[in-house]
Amino acid sequence: MHDLVIRNGTIVDGTGDTPYQGDIAIDDGRISAIGRIEAEGRETVDATGQIITPGFVDIHTHFDGQITWDPLLTPSCWHGVTTVVMGNCGVGFAPAAPNRHEWLIGLMEGVEDIPGTALSAGMQWNWETFPEYLDYLDTLPKALDVGTQVPHGAVRAYVMGERGASNEPANPEDILEMKKLVREGIEAGALGVSTSRTIVHRAIDGVNVPGTFAEEDEMMAFGEALSEAGTGVFELAPAGVTGDDMNLPDLEVAWMRRVSAATGRPITFALVQLDAEPDHWKRMFDLSEEAAAEGADLYPQVTARAGRPARPADEPPLGKRAHLSRDQRPLQARRR
Ligand SMILES: [Zn+2]
Repeated sequence: MHDLVIRNGTIVDGTGDTPYQGDIAIDDGRISAIGRIEAEGRETVDATGQIITPGFVDIHTHFDGQITWDPLLTPSCWHGVTTVVMGNCGVGFAPAAPNRHEWLIGLMEGVEDIPGTALSAGMQWNWETFPEYLDYLDTLPKALDVGTQVPHGAVRAYVMGERGASNEPANPEDILEMKKLVREGIEAGALGVSTSRTIVHRAIDGVNVPGTFAEEDEMMAFGEALSEAGTGVFELAPAGVTGDDMNLPDLEVAWMRRVSAATGRPITFALVQLDAEPDHWKRMFDLSEEAAAEGADLYPQVTARAGRPARPADEPPLGKRAHLSRDQRPLQARRR
């Protein structure tokens, strides 16, 4: 007798092998048998016509707000995702000065097309620092496993106030303080630190994400924070990622190589298909391999969503467009 038997599914086991028909038994929370299973289960699931796979790990999500009110994290749970990593692209909700809540929401709404009205209605803001945010997440029910990253945008505005929010250069004291907060977040349990350097990522008011134009010393400080904590990955949406300036990707890889080699920490960066330069992705793969030979650890992060052209400053992001009246929406949106 097994705890659970899932019968007659198409098993796609994640090894790359050809899918096959079969049953799966689970005991004490672990897979105990795969194939044709005779024994009964205390619980049986008929998976005829369904696929049985390991849970998907989605390393690039922006559930930082939704996690506080939705234990199921829809729609990811419907797609077989069992682990999400949030806090990508430098945006998130901690650390959060008490007077910056709506501003952080506007940042997320602009960058990730998540409607600010939903975030404002759903979030309780029971934290200020990043460790406090993690402590609060710990108290919440969750159907999925969740990993976090310390977002540069929030850290910069917390440390530098308006200077940080409006992308003024950081001075050495600012950088030291940001580094301290990143390390504190990692030591409290964050999986890494993230930033955004693409001009496509803008707050709802059109202002670039804090950190978009940060100098290399600010990036190096984050690498050092991870290095000192002895763990953590550095994630970013690099400058030029959408093909807005094809000189930028090589320059971005150059500093990533230096930071990763100097700090010994891995860096993962967004990479999308550019129709204007279809082989660009191969070059980024080659450069990353070259970097590995020099002791730098770079991982292009390929998304299922294609690149989009840089949004003009006067055009609202998708999240805002949803608030337009029916007739104001572009034809394609209305047809859906
Ligand atoms: Zn992102």
